[in-house]
Amino acid sequence: MTDEIDVSDCRRCEKLCASRSRIVNGVGPTDAALCFVGEAPGEREDDTGEPFVGRSGEVLDGALRDLGLARGDVRITNCARCRPPDNRDPTAEELTNCRPHLEGEIDAVDPDVIVTLGKVPSEHLLGRSVPVTAEAGSVHDVRIAGATRRVLVCVHPAATLYDPSQRETFASALESAVELVDGGGDQSRLGEF
Ligand code: URA
Repeated sequence: MTDEIDVSDCRRCEKLCASRSRIVNGVGPTDAALCFVGEAPGEREDDTGEPFVGRSGEVLDGALRDLGLARGDVRITNCARCRPPDNRDPTAEELTNCRPHLEGEIDAVDPDVIVTLGKVPSEHLLGRSVPVTAEAGSVHDVRIAGATRRVLVCVHPAATLYDPSQRETFASALESAVELVDGGGDQSRLGEF
């Protein structure tokens, strides 16, 4: 399945096509209640084809475990599906080119809460400048592909590696996201795990 979610070929970004090893699609249940959106694949993700499998992924997995969740309980994806060389940020044009893939995935998964991991996805989805540390844990109703989505801002997991004071910010934003899903009604799709 997941034809509308998985991208098997895309040549919209000439430079990324030339440098990527592969397209890195999102992973996780196609009906996940919680969807994490990162920036773009890094080296390990480009090697393996799976988002958030490097050090940032270990931080994310650990924080999910602390909340009683496994990586496989949530959807994990990125704003850009191809690795920008030297781990630079994706350009505005690359983000725009990849946006239909992200919107298609969000539309298909229909998550209760989207968690933006870091500045790039937060600004990409909120459409404005976002000081992520100050706004971590804040929730916004955002129109994405014709639907109103709940977006919770979070710092990038890598930030906790550079700055240990961000660990608490990261953990508490994730806790808020899980509470938002669990408190979202009788049909919570996380409570069963
Ligand atoms: N950082 C991201 O933003 N995405 C990944 O998939 C890995 C690291």
